Amino acid sequence: MCIRPTWVEISRHRLLANYRYLRQRAGRSADLLAVVKADAYGHGLVHCAPLISGAGAEWLGITSVEEGIRARSACAARPRILVISGLWHGEAAGALAHNLTPVVWEQFHLDELEAAARERGLGPRSVAVHLEIDTGMARQGVAAPYCAGTERGTEAPALKNLLARFHPQSALRLEGIMTHFSAAESLSSVEFKRQMARLGAALDHVIAARLEFRWLHAGASATLMGGQDLPAMSELAAKAGARLMLRPGLALYGYAPRFSPPGTPADEAATHLQQVLAWKTRVVSTHSIPGGEGVSYNSTFLARRPTRLALIAVGYADGLNRLLSNRASLSVRGQRVPIAGRICMDQCLLDVTDVPAVELGDEVVILGGHAMDAYEHADLIDSIPWEVLCDIGPRVPRMLVD
Ligand SMILES: *Cc1c(COP(=O)(O)O)cnc(C)c1O
Repeated sequence: MCIRPTWVEISRHRLLANYRYLRQRAGRSADLLAVVKADAYGHGLVHCAPLISGAGAEWLGITSVEEGIRARSACAARPRILVISGLWHGEAAGALAHNLTPVVWEQFHLDELEAAARERGLGPRSVAVHLEIDTGMARQGVAAPYCAGTERGTEAPALKNLLARFHPQSALRLEGIMTHFSAAESLSSVEFKRQMARLGAALDHVIAARLEFRWLHAGASATLMGGQDLPAMSELAAKAGARLMLRPGLALYGYAPRFSPPGTPADEAATHLQQVLAWKTRVVSTHSIPGGEGVSYNSTFLARRPTRLALIAVGYADGLNRLLSNRASLSVRGQRVPIAGRICMDQCLLDVTDVPAVELGDEVVILGGHAMDAYEHADLIDSIPWEVLCDIGPRVPRMLVD
């Protein structure tokens, strides 16, 4: 097989164990939507989506119609697929053709879905959609009624106009109401309480409009792992006659959000998760340089002693962030060795002076396994594990192991 030696190993059994753990943690009264957007957080949609849906996941969440089409053709089990970031012009027909369920909040989403449904000759209430309520993230969704203190019940004209679209002759059916929390990892936050209050106020409008819907969904990994807010959410769903659904992403891949304050039961729950991904490469060349020589572009690493270097087949074009130059250490023969000098586009160098056994062809773990995990990478570059995982580039092949 002709492959450049840099690849990502995905542990099938760890992914499934995480899914089962989260499923059990959600309890019987809540459903789960497994978020596999952004190529399953860099883990490979075509591998992860069929495994998770094969394990019984009823819902998958992806970003766009394009991703949804890939997920649809990868999954034999015919899961429901939610298009989390809504629709853009011209995408409605594709969403219907592939049985994707869009999140909606703009009038044009509904216009284009209605038109596409007409074109396909679909009858009333045949196209399920989920309406997003903006309760404080201010990213997407129709504004909830403002309900700080006495403002509760304030008019929400945009919401009312959207709800009026779900009349009995419409091809559209309101199947879900959703929102997204902006600070779920800070436990018992005032933001969470304010967002829940606004969601409750929005639901009052839905109930007043006599619209029934099947799912109320909110809460990502942090809400599910934290757990303390689930009773309030279940109560709200029950009041609206709907089932609660949670949308974990990161936790499926074995990383728990970091909670603040730390040391809570949520951190204990995190010990049940197993990191799914290991990113690896090989030593493709070794050589030694005398003390005083510089390494890689601009000699940002200056050898203070005679130094043995190992060249590895990974660079920033593969998603190894250049800010990790001279900061991160990778793992070879079970030991950590530092990156020496600037990470190049396709390659970088390790200082292996202290591990003399290193030789051509040795496996090097970049992330996961014995190496730094996505949190450690993230901390070094002022980022978050979500970004570190998604950054692993498309030219790095993903392969299922175990
Ligand atoms: C990405 C996303 C999630 C999953 O978030 P995690 O923190 O990775 O669990 C859930 N809901 C929405 C709307 C998202 O965009």
